[in-house]
Amino acid sequence: MHTVKLGNKDIPVGKIVCIGRNYAEHIKELGNQVPDKPVIFIKPASSIIGVGGTIIIPPHSGDCHHEVELAVLIGTEAKNVDASNAPDHVAGYAVALDLTLRDIQSAQKEKGLPWEIAKAFDTACPLSAFVPADQVGDPQKLQIRLTVNDDVRQDGNTKDMMRSIAELIAAASTYFTLETGDILLTGTPSGVGRIVSGDKLEAAIERVGRLNVSVA
Ligand code: MG
Repeated sequence: MHTVKLGNKDIPVGKIVCIGRNYAEHIKELGNQVPDKPVIFIKPASSIIGVGGTIIIPPHSGDCHHEVELAVLIGTEAKNVDASNAPDHVAGYAVALDLTLRDIQSAQKEKGLPWEIAKAFDTACPLSAFVPADQVGDPQKLQIRLTVNDDVRQDGNTKDMMRSIAELIAAASTYFTLETGDILLTGTPSGVGRIVSGDKLEAAIERVGRLNVSVA
């Protein structure tokens, strides 16, 4: 059982629901189409590593990309909720990385096959501790940044999400029940790129926290 910290409490993690293509500049950089509905996939809890953790790139990939994302912890069950009520189901926020084996993902996309093997590998979801929602304030006004070996690679703001966190929770909850301990990753701003052995990553989100991990 994987757990995450919310303040000083340990919360068992359910599923990690991830949103793709939620920042316009990132859609452009990968040459993807703007989706008419949210792009949704799931990472297993077994992919989580914590602050100070080590990313292990699977040997069958030569192109592991960083994607820094705001993570949302679901505090109470949500099914078919309206966007107006969705914030009531949020317990807290954290800094996450949605690590992606871009070469494997591209091959799967070409064949029309699911991407899970590119997104769900062990260590694919580095995650900081969660900060209670009431300490963060407006989650749609947060600077989100990633440096690799002190070079700024991604520098965005959650105001540039195409769909708000509330809209994403509402949409995801039409497809499946969001349960206490589920986590939502809300998409990445532009600047994604390759990480290699020895890299040191520092992700930071204003008022939420920091996440330091390295690549084995
Ligand atoms: Mg992502």
